[in-house]
Amino acid sequence: MVASRPRLVVATRSAHKLGELRKLLALETTQLVSLDELGVPGEPVEDATTFEGNAASKARWAVRATALPALADDSGIEVDALGGAPGVRTRRYAGEHADDAQNNRKLLAALEGLPASARGARYVCALALALPDRAGARGGLPVITRRGICPGRIATEPRGDGGFGYDPIFEPAREAPGGRTFGLWSDAEKNRVSHRARAARRMAPLLHELGFG
Ligand code: IMP
Repeated sequence: MVASRPRLVVATRSAHKLGELRKLLALETTQLVSLDELGVPGEPVEDATTFEGNAASKARWAVRATALPALADDSGIEVDALGGAPGVRTRRYAGEHADDAQNNRKLLAALEGLPASARGARYVCALALALPDRAGARGGLPVITRRGICPGRIATEPRGDGGFGYDPIFEPAREAPGGRTFGLWSDAEKNRVSHRARAARRMAPLLHELGFG
């Protein structure tokens, strides 16, 4: 009998997040499948006040919908001058159905006139792994989370069209003010230092221990 490859569902509808996670985790035997590939309808509730809380609820929701182990990403940007906002509201910063350009415009306007020294920000990514309930297990589905952070600053205008979301206005810390944004970095460069890369590097040993190689 041929053993089937283990499957892990990635609880996201974002093709960008899925693509980055596929590259970052580089799993050889485990198949990463998306909600869309499995034809799963609906959306999990995202009303937690932390990235970890939201990632955990997305992962648990995906396990319940698919009966497969699930990995979820909740991420966003924290801006010092805004007291850490937009934080968990990053995707909806300029409104419930805001697109990336509207979110970027709103953030640039909020920081209008501030010098580079006052434009500090960081990307944050929480990854959560939830496992299907084991017979007799008590409480909710077991979930493990790992966080990655990427420090930088908000540019004064968008530059570059690589990546997604806030990448055209995010200057990673190793760039001088006015230098290249993530939108101008190659995928390979971003995948070495990004918040998602750092969270994935912390999650990878656990995945391997659990047999997702
Ligand atoms: P959520 O995790 O689906 O709630 O949304 C995260 C939001 O944060 C995305 O829609 C993007 O706007 C932003 N974001 C997260 N990670 C990145 C990234 O790597 N580049 C650019 N924007 C990101």
